[in-house]
Formats: sequence, C-alpha cells, structure tokens
Amino acid sequence: MGINFKELAEKYQTPYYVYDFDYITKQYQELKGAFKARKSLISYAVKANSNLSVVKHLGDQGSGADCVSIGEVKRALKAGIPKYKIIFSGVGKIDDEIREALQLDILMINVESEAELKRVDIIAKELKVEARISIRVNPNVDPKTHPYISTGLHENKFGVDINTAKRMYIFAKQSENLDPLGIHCHIGSQLTELAPIKEAVNIVADLVRNIKSALKIELKFFDVGGGLGIVYDDEKLIDTYEYAQTVLDALFGLDITVVCEPGRFIVGNSGVFVTKVLYEKVNGSKRFVIVDGAMNDLIRPSLYDAYHKIEVLDKNENKSDCNVVGPVCESGDFFAKNIELPQTEHNDLMVIYSAGAYGFTMASNYNTRGKVAEIALENGKDRLIRRRETFEDLIALEEEYLK
Ligand SMILES: *Cc1c(COP(=O)(O)O)cnc(C)c1O
Repeated sequence: MGINFKELAEKYQTPYYVYDFDYITKQYQELKGAFKARKSLISYAVKANSNLSVVKHLGDQGSGADCVSIGEVKRALKAGIPKYKIIFSGVGKIDDEIREALQLDILMINVESEAELKRVDIIAKELKVEARISIRVNPNVDPKTHPYISTGLHENKFGVDINTAKRMYIFAKQSENLDPLGIHCHIGSQLTELAPIKEAVNIVADLVRNIKSALKIELKFFDVGGGLGIVYDDEKLIDTYEYAQTVLDALFGLDITVVCEPGRFIVGNSGVFVTKVLYEKVNGSKRFVIVDGAMNDLIRPSLYDAYHKIEVLDKNENKSDCNVVGPVCESGDFFAKNIELPQTEHNDLMVIYSAGAYGFTMASNYNTRGKVAEIALENGKDRLIRRRETFEDLIALEEEYLK
C-alpha cells in the first residue's frame, strides 16, 4: 500500500482509519469496465463507508448510490451524486422517509413488501407524484456466506417471493401513482462463489421475461445487488469479468440497464485501521496485547467473528500466540484471538487490514469513546476527511438538558 503509517500517527494521533482513494477508483473502474457491453449503473452501497469525501470521490467517477435510509440518500446528494442515480432500499422504510425520497425525486424506491408498496402508493397519491419503484425479489438461493450477511433465502427478512412480486407488479401497473421501473435482488455479502449468483440472476431474469409477456410491463433496470467478496485472508474471489458475463448472459435478449450495488468490493481493501499498542500482559498462560482501538471502532471481529489480517509495524521477531484486545469493558472486545504476533512495546503501531468497509460506519460511542479520525490518501497525499470526535462532541446533545 505504501502508506507511511507512522507519519500519519504523528500527524493525526491514533487510532485512525486511512483510505486509499486511488484503490477505490481502480475497483470502481474494474467493475464498470466489466459491464461495458451494456448500459450499466454502478450504484455504490453507501452503508459500507459513508464518509462524504468517499461518496463524493465515487460520484466523481460517475457512480450512483444505493442507500438504506433517508439519511444515506441525503448524504449521497450532499456528496454530489445526481438524484437520478440514487436508489433507496431497505425492509423498513418509515412514512417520512418515503415522502422525502419522493420529494427528492430520486431514481427509484426499491420496495421490499406488499404492505410497503401500498404505503408508497398512498404517499405518492398524497404528494400527487408518480413513484418510480423496483421490487426486491428474494430468489431463495443460498449464497454460502456468513448467516449474518446472507439475505437471499426465504428465512431472511429481505425482499418478497416470486409470486408476491408478480402480484405487486400487477398492483403497481394498475395504480396511477406507481411506475414499476425495475427489479432487484441482493442475496448476501462477501460472496465468493459464482454459482448462487448465477442461479439468482437467472431466476430473476426469467421473472422479467414473464412480467413482460404476461403483464406487459417492460422493466428498465435489472439490479443485481452487491455482495462481491474481497480478500481478508486467503479467499479465492469471483472473477469480475466472469461475474459480469454471467449477469449479461442471463439478460440475453432483454433491453434492460444493469445496476450493480457494490459496497465491500469497492472500499473494503482500500482502508486500514491503525491502532497503537498500550500494554502487554499474561493472565495465567494467556498473552494479551492491549491496544488503543476497540470494538466500538471496528466491530466486525466481535459481531461476525470476522478475520482481519494484523501486523505490528516494523517488527517480525519473537512471535507467540496472543489475543489482541481493546480497552472496552466487554470480553467480546477483540480484534483477533489466538494469532501469532511479535513481542510488542508501548506505542508500537498495529495495522488492521481490510477495514475500509463496515468499519467506521458501524462505529459507536460505547464507553464514551469518541469516533476516530478518518484520513484519505490520494496521489500520495494525505488529508483529513473526518476529524476525531472530542468529549464536547459526545455530550453536545445532552448538556443543555442537565438539571
Ligand atoms: C448492503 C447492501 C449492498 C452492498 O453489499 P456489499 O456486500 O457491501 O457489496 C448492496 N445492496 C443492498 C440492497 C444492500 O443492503
């Protein structure tokens, strides 16, 4: 990566996240290029890393935004993503969110239940607009990923089954307030096998053909969701071109724009989390390396038992088994368990890799810890893109109510 972690630590203190914007560009271009045989829209999944500068950087490349709350929609707009490239997904949209999305005139609302479709219909009528919608189909395909990030099975809460989808398209066609424009599926995250994706896109493409012939609805957008996996450890990845080809093959004969909503693939390996060693200790025979970052900064190891590669900067000797833990008062506060690391000293820097996606965006203020700084690296130059939170930031919304 060629990042001078030490210099950044001196300049911005620790812990911090740093993202390589040139890598983000490369990932975006790779995926966009893979779909070049057709009209396509890469709609970056904002929840993976929603820093305004990250979203703007992608917008500058031509990316759209896939959003799962009105907050994310407004972030995307603030970052300069054109409204006609913004999609609003999610199983539980609030009335006010639907209203605002319609008023903001974004590309489409991705509807995930019959009940929601009826709400969108009513709200569109109130506002006297026609709501552009897509329907999220749950193809009941096992994506073979971690159960917490699987979304494509009927046992998951996402989307609707094929028959429900058909009823919804009929309802939408008959309503004056709804414009059924697209179809969507997203079967899970960190996918490393092409077969389930192939199965899903073929099921959904057949549905598109069926809707066209039986219901006379010509959909304009075929959204394959996100989910492309990245290397955390030694995963073998889906080839981007094979992926795109699989999608394009499924769409043979259809005049439809492909939408793809990658999150992790774009930003996951653009970022690392850098933390500082505070202490080492041995409890019985168990060695602990205690660092200044914690689960509130990067929760993936605690939440998903996720693996992140860890290195101690400039040290490689005298390795032994240890757990890397943070200062938060939870036994679940760890970055790694039973890994081999060199003997460390106070202030050694530790680099936690693959932290660009679902890192900062899942951070909290637990234990009254301020969120850390975020730094961008572009053309070899670093710049702050979110300052470290102060104690004053943390109490700002409570202070005035103190009696
Ligand atoms: C989370 C999400 C994505 C992005 O998933 P990645 O695995 O990060 O690519 C795309 N689409 C929808 C609807 C999502 O919820």
